[in-house]
Formats: sequence, structure tokens, C-alpha cells
Amino acid sequence: MSMEQTKGLLKFITCGSVDDGKSTLIGHMLYDSKLIFADQEEALKLDSRVGSRGGDIDYSLLLDGLMAEREQGITIDVAYRYFTTDKRSFIVADTPGHEEYTRNMAVGASFAELAVILMDAAKGILRQTRRHCQICSMMGIRHFVFAVNKMDLTGYSKSRFKELEKDIKKLAIDLELENVMVIPVSATEGDNITKRSVNMNWYSGPVLLEYLETVDVSGQSNEEGFVLPVQRVTRPDASFRGFAGEIECGGIRVGDEITVLPGDERAKVKSIIVGDSEEDHAIGGEPVTISLDREVDISRGSVIIKDTVLSISSMFTVKLLWMDDEPLAAGRAFVIKLSTQKLPATVMRIKYKLDIDTGDKLPSEVLYKNEIAECEIALVGSAVFDRFEFHPTLGEFILIDRITNMTSACGVILHSLRRSDNIFWQDFDITRDVRAKSLGQKPLTLWFTGLSGAGKSTLANALEKRLYSLGYHTMLLDGDNIRMGINKNLGFKEADRVENIRRVAEIAKLMNDAGLIVLTAFISPYIADRRNARNIIGDGNFIEVYVNTPLEECEKRDVKGLYQKARKGEIPNFTGIGSPYEPPEEPEIITDTLGHDVETCVDELLDEIRKYL
Ligand code: ADP
Repeated sequence: MSMEQTKGLLKFITCGSVDDGKSTLIGHMLYDSKLIFADQEEALKLDSRVGSRGGDIDYSLLLDGLMAEREQGITIDVAYRYFTTDKRSFIVADTPGHEEYTRNMAVGASFAELAVILMDAAKGILRQTRRHCQICSMMGIRHFVFAVNKMDLTGYSKSRFKELEKDIKKLAIDLELENVMVIPVSATEGDNITKRSVNMNWYSGPVLLEYLETVDVSGQSNEEGFVLPVQRVTRPDASFRGFAGEIECGGIRVGDEITVLPGDERAKVKSIIVGDSEEDHAIGGEPVTISLDREVDISRGSVIIKDTVLSISSMFTVKLLWMDDEPLAAGRAFVIKLSTQKLPATVMRIKYKLDIDTGDKLPSEVLYKNEIAECEIALVGSAVFDRFEFHPTLGEFILIDRITNMTSACGVILHSLRRSDNIFWQDFDITRDVRAKSLGQKPLTLWFTGLSGAGKSTLANALEKRLYSLGYHTMLLDGDNIRMGINKNLGFKEADRVENIRRVAEIAKLMNDAGLIVLTAFISPYIADRRNARNIIGDGNFIEVYVNTPLEECEKRDVKGLYQKARKGEIPNFTGIGSPYEPPEEPEIITDTLGHDVETCVDELLDEIRKYL
């Protein structure tokens, strides 16, 4: 057992506004203890040892998804410092205090067990103080130390401290903070940092370092059972199918019976590989590959469990921190990353946002950068999860912008939405198959995409006529019957555009359920939106038809005079001019209209489509 293991490790974060004296305070502690500076990598290495993670650097110490952000090349400004005293080792995440850096704070907080909140005795509780507390609390920190700094400038006033202590206690109640300690200090003079202050004899509590050395944070983990989120399915040869990932918690032995979620299938563990060697057991934190005694449906994102219960849902209530410069509007779609699962997700509703000053819950349609809110999220498909308090890694998530690939928000799951539990897809006796059979056809959605004027409506119309005359039952969805009907409350803003396509996809799916062959004619310029549509409608029924007409040609046709207007700047986000069109990467069908007349194109389309009909 190494020294660090016997002493235990405390991971904490320091939060404070600019000039509150954060650096001085940390500097003091480092100086007075047997400081060991280490860079972030070193610190993590040391921590991995303590966490008995096989000596490998355990990057999962940081919220997984936010780590991915680092891979995406975005600088996160968090400095990790390692230091040790006779009693304990410490890693402190030092984050800049500026409002702009809330994102960094969230990263630091996701890693820490305790937060040292610095405040200036003269200034008292600031907006920033509240925000920092809320973020720390949201990211799972259960221990707070308020270091009331610059006491020397108040003449070491007991009454001022008592006043602030009262404010802090009230704040703690408002924000439901647990385990709150308040210590009067002076970072510059060194009062109550590592040594008891002679200037504040009226204070009898512990000094900061002493408190950090002795505070017990072990009660934090409520994790039960064995949990292994599957990262990869490996198939080195035909005879072996292994499931690789890092054990989140608990242990596993060869022969144990496990359950695979979301399918709820059972199997026994046949073999366990840790690193390169075959073992008969493995424990929490170890990266493993396991194989099972029978064929089970497992892919990336599946979760293997034993002796615990996780939930499966497609709708949650969450608490999130919005980190994007662009405001969040309800209805916007993202990719949610939850443990090893990645799914399309939509923020359905902003239930309320927190007023940082009062803690009040404000109704709101939009969320601005650095705001915290409770929201409802719906997934395309369903995810395996748990409440953050029970299995943190299965309860924390990030939302990734589908276009920029940036992390727009991070948050935690509060609970699954009852609604989704209660809405079971009615098991009608008259199924889609029955309906389709009675119509004598296979339901499909032919999703036409292309620039304005490419020929989507013209071709979809002509093709529908042809299909109709051949006896097929069809329905055409286009701007006329959708934009002027069910979607007449939508404009052309990002959120509306996404919602427009989502509704079209849902309607197409319902019509497919009714047995119809659906043709849709919408520009649908973004790959992500079309992928979303494909997910909703189902891969097997979705035929993407790319009407490939060059911009010059569309502009020449200018059926509705829109290009001309766009060129004059009268339509700011017109696709192809002020806003991009992302051609499909692998459409089922491409039709080139340039130099071909409509009938020729329809002949070709029909030829292609026959194999799906
Ligand atoms: P979209 O629905 O893609 O905005 P439209 O169908 O409204 O486009 O307009 C396409 C225009 O291009 C029509 O005026 C149509 O007559 C003309 N056009 C010329 N050749 C073709 C072709 N091969 N296929 C479809 N449309 C064509």
C-alpha cells in the first residue's frame, strides 16, 4: 500500500471572484505545507494510484464528456495542483473566477469532493458566490468551506464575521447546501490558513488546512452493485465477442450472472480480461473486456449490471448549466452524451431558470450563457441512466451542438419523466403490418432534399402521380400543407427550422404507420436534421432522395423569385446564399436534374425505388 493510500486524498476546488485572494490563499497553503507542485498530468497520475486504477491515468476523474471537449481542442482553463501534508494528500482544481469561466468551474467541480468558496469580508456574498455554489452543488459537491478572507482589513472584526456567517447560513439553506463550514481568514497575513490566528481569538473552530486534512467526505458514494457501461464491442476473431469498458463500480467474477440493459437480457460471465491478462475477477475502476456464455444484444452504450437497478427512459427532468454563447430555446435538438451513450435529444421545455440573486424559480422561454435551469429532455430512443446521486456517471450528461460539435450544456438527471413511463406505445391488434398488408404495399418515406428550386416539389409531385396510377397509396407532404397548416406557428429561426423538420418526420412516421408511402419535399439543409428524421422514421423505411441541382441552375430557374430577393439581402438566411446546404453523404438515391427533363428523372427514380417497394 502506498503512502497516499493510507493518508487518503481530498480533491477540492477553489472558487472566488477576481481579487478575492484565491491565488494567495492557495499559495499560502502550498508554501506552508510540504508543497509538491505538479502539473495536471502528474496530479492525475498520483490520484490514479490512490484510486487504485492500475496505475493508469484515470481521465474519468473529470466529467467524461467535458474531457471530450479537450479532445476537441478547446482549452479548458483549470489548473490542477497536487500537494501533501503529513495527514493527507490534496489535488486542488484552481479555476479562474471571471464570469466567463463558468465552464471551467463546472469541469473543476465535477472532479471535486469539496469546494472552498472564497469571499471578501468587506464585500460579503456576491452574485458570483451564489453562482459558484449553485454550480458546485449541481455537480455533486456536498462539502463547502466558506473562507471569509481579508479579515485583517476589517480589523479582525468578530461582529462583521458573525454577520457574514449568518448570511452564509441563510444562503446554505436557500441553496440546500450540505456540510457548510465558515472560517475567518486572511490569505495575505496567513491568519487561520495553516496556523491559528492570534488576531482572532474569538474564533475557536478549525483553521482551513486542519479542516481540509480532517474532513470526512467518504459518505459521498451511494453507488451500489456492479456497473459496466460498454464502450466497445471487440471481435478479434469469429469465436470471440468481447465487451470492453471501464468498470464504474463494484466487482465481477467469472461465472457471475449479469443483466444487459436496455434489453434486460441475462447471461453469465465467461471470461474477464484486464489489460493483457485473463483474470477470474475485476473491480471498480479497471478497464476490462468481458465475454459472455451466450449471444446477447450488446453494442456501445449498453450497460452491464449486477446487483443494482438502473432506469430506462426516453424523457427526463434535468438540471443543466447552459454554456453556449447562443441562447437556448425550447425545442432545440442536440446530441446527448450520457456515459457511453450518444443519442439525439431535444430540450422540450425549460421548466424554470434560477435567479442567481434570489434563488427564485423564474419561468422562461430562453436560457442565456451561465444560467442554470431545470428542463425536460426527450430522446430519440431511450437511454439507460440513474439519478446522479446514486450512480453519478450514469446521471450526468452533456449536450453537444450538432453543427459545431461544441459542448453547449452540462447537467445532471433529476428523474425520469413519469409521462414517458406511462405512455406505452399502444399494442394495437391492427398493427402497421396489418394496415400495410391491407393496402398491399410496404410503407416508405421518400425524403426529398435539395436547394430551393432544385426540383423537389416538381419531382415528388410527378412521382406521386406515377405511383398513384400504379395503384400505390401515397401522401405528399410539402410546404403547402405543412407550413400553412400544422406548422403555421413556426418561423425560420434555427429552433423553428429544427422543429419543422421534426414534426414532418413524426407525421411521415404516423402516415407510414397507417400504411402509406409518404413523399416529403423540404429543403432540409442540415445533415443532422435529416439524420434526426431518419431516426424518427426508422432506417429501414427512410429513403433519402438527393435532388442534385447546382446552385447556379437553381438561381437561374428562380421559380419563386426568392434568389433574387436573397441576393438583394432581403432574405438573410436563405439556403445557398446566406446559409449553407449540406448535401447528403450517403443518400439512397441521387437524381441530377440539370440537362434532364422531369419525366426522365421520374423514370429513373421509379427504377431506383422499385427495389424498396
Ligand atoms: P423545389 O421544390 O426544390 O424548391 P420546384 O420543384 O419548386 O423546386 O422547382 C423546380 C423548377 O425546376 C421547376 O420550375 C421545374 O419545372 C424546373 N425543372 C427543370 N428541370 C427539372 C427536372 N429535371 N426536375 C425537376 N424540376 C425541373
